[in-house]
Amino acid sequence: MKGFDVVIIGGGLSGTSTALNLSKKGYSVLIIEKEKFQAYKPCAGGMASSMQKFLPLDMKDSIESKIKNVEFRWRASDDVIADLTGESPFWIIKREKLDQSILDESLKNGVQIIRPVLVEKVTKKNDKWEIICNSKEIYKSEFLVIADGSQSKWAGHFKLGPKTPKFANTISLRLKGLGDIPKDAVRFEFGFIKYGFAWAFPLKESLNIGLGTFINNSLLNNQTINKQVIRSFGFDEFSYKTINRKLRIWNGIHQINGDKVLAVGDAASLCDPFLAEGIRPSLISSYYAAECIDNCLSGKADDLNIYTKKINNNWGKSMAWGKRIAQIFYRFPKTGYQLGVKRKTAPKRIAQILSGEMSYEDIAKRVIRRLLTKREI
Ligand SMILES: Cc1cc2nc3c(=O)[nH]c(=O)nc-3n(C[C@H](O)[C@H](O)[C@H](O)COP(=O)(O)OP(=O)(O)OC[C@H]3O[C@@H](n4cnc5c(N)ncnc54)[C@H](O)[C@@H]3O)c2cc1C
Repeated sequence: MKGFDVVIIGGGLSGTSTALNLSKKGYSVLIIEKEKFQAYKPCAGGMASSMQKFLPLDMKDSIESKIKNVEFRWRASDDVIADLTGESPFWIIKREKLDQSILDESLKNGVQIIRPVLVEKVTKKNDKWEIICNSKEIYKSEFLVIADGSQSKWAGHFKLGPKTPKFANTISLRLKGLGDIPKDAVRFEFGFIKYGFAWAFPLKESLNIGLGTFINNSLLNNQTINKQVIRSFGFDEFSYKTINRKLRIWNGIHQINGDKVLAVGDAASLCDPFLAEGIRPSLISSYYAAECIDNCLSGKADDLNIYTKKINNNWGKSMAWGKRIAQIFYRFPKTGYQLGVKRKTAPKRIAQILSGEMSYEDIAKRVIRRLLTKREI
């Protein structure tokens, strides 16, 4: 039976980032990942560059585009452009590259990964975790990190996060070429997708397109609308393969740690319920997870409770407002667009939200009051 300081279930962005942060602090870490290798990650890769500070690895090789403008449209017209120059930039990173470089750096630092392996049972014996896998191997650790993503089985098992998780439905695809999206702009397209929106984020030579619905679990299987959206991004003839994913979105302040166990990233239900941002909370939670485990292992703290507090303060408070904005905006999208996006001051505020300079909490009260006092036009 092999022993580690920390075992991490799930080798996605949150799992590998937690492993990297822990390995930099000198701990032995094992990642258990159920998939062999993923050639394509259904993620558009948009992130605030300010998040670099939460990862002890230079991300520059994974950046495909530095975004200068954010374009908003209502049914392919009524454009609003937010200028990001002057704000700290928004990056488009290629997830396959970023995830691989985080894993490579972790392995260099002594992290071990086993894949494809499924965890079958987790028990605690003499205050240590015993993790039994389908390979019949048993691993032991002091601490356990749950990083098994939006379809997490283990977060519920340990009662971490909301009892009833909430999901956004998404479809993603990658097309060759950029259509009519400038190489340094992202586009948010409202009005086609009920209870949600579509987005187009440019890589160097291809475009990440996504469609998402955020309330009522509305489905995205209307092919006519989907094609209309793709055409609106400047593609006439295209064949495409889509991937459907359910994204576990933030749904209230909850405990995300237990005794010597904590959840990070999507498994902890941290994804932004308004814009589906999940990279930022994955990096933030991985950073604080490693810090809090380090404090326990080095005798500076007795338990992981501070982890839940830190995530709720640094992320949850803003998401509580993001959720309220989403519930109103996606129910009354036309009014939302007119009052939330088309206002003179909106582009600057949106730029500040995307770049991480402002939180939903900073803008929400005024936005919600405006949305609630006007009827759908
Ligand atoms: C279409 C789409 C577009 C997106 N675009 C953006 C964007 O532009 N910007 C942004 O900030 N966020 C975006 N996101 C969100 C972002 O991709 C996620 O929040 C992020 O990937 C979460 O990382 P994670 O490591 O927590 O989960 P995941 O990346 O899902 O990793 C979980 C890992 O755990 C493994 N696993 C699962 N179960 C088990 C198990 N039982 N045992 C072992 N391993 C297991 C999985 O195979 C996987 O490798 C998008 C999401 C989608 C779906």
